[in-house]
Amino acid sequence: MLVAAPVAADKECSYRTPYSSCPLCGGHQAALSGTVSCRNHALWHPPLPDSLTWLQCASCGHIFTDSYYTDAGLSEVFLRANDNQLAGGDWERVRYAWAGTVNRIVQALPSRKDIFHEKLGWLDVGCGNGGLLFTASEFGFDAVGIDTRKEAVQRIQDMGYAALQADILTIQARKPFHVISMADVLEHVAFPLQVLARAHDLLHEQGVLFISCPNVECITWRQQDEAKTNPYCTELEHHHNFSRATLMTALRACRFVPVGYSVSPRYIACMEVLAVKSPE
Ligand SMILES: [Zn+2]
Repeated sequence: MLVAAPVAADKECSYRTPYSSCPLCGGHQAALSGTVSCRNHALWHPPLPDSLTWLQCASCGHIFTDSYYTDAGLSEVFLRANDNQLAGGDWERVRYAWAGTVNRIVQALPSRKDIFHEKLGWLDVGCGNGGLLFTASEFGFDAVGIDTRKEAVQRIQDMGYAALQADILTIQARKPFHVISMADVLEHVAFPLQVLARAHDLLHEQGVLFISCPNVECITWRQQDEAKTNPYCTELEHHHNFSRATLMTALRACRFVPVGYSVSPRYIACMEVLAVKSPE
């Protein structure tokens, strides 16, 4: 039986700050979903907190951690990186994994025929290992990636592609982007609505937003939960576990209209969503 509890927890340290309310709807009541150890996570190391507590909002159903990383916490987390967060490896496999997604994004663009005549702008938020950035460039876009990990950005720059160590909340752009992608990003940020609102500001009126993240309602998630092998429960970089419904609600709250849904060919239990700006 779930016990109703106030969202603000008493667990506070210099590396994490408790949420004062649900980061999606602002609700102040949440049920405890569970507390798990993350000591076996590849990136965990002292002095990072060694457990994650997950809550579920009583108002909107969103599942989130009881706290989020401070700047000091993020600096500590970013001291290490998973191999898939940095450029390198089997590029043909990476290219093939992204081609279908890029093609779906192109098909959703009202101006898709223009990519054969001009380079439309593409902002890849959280460009990581560069797989999406390289593939978008191959498809004819003027693509630039941003990432908070310095090493990830450096490796991409060294390969001759455009990348910046930057945050979407503070970057400036000379003109709006026709595509903004957030591949496996939104579950990492502390306040997703801020990021979506900023994406709305940066996106062209005829542009497309792409998001991929885990879906707690898919069959794989449920099976992994039942087997107690769900890797996302101990993912120390994540703050959110979206469902299709809560992601759609977040998009609509930030004046987006979802226009496409698919499953990710890269990570288990992940969904891929396309959205466009809602008419003002
Ligand atoms: Zn909520």
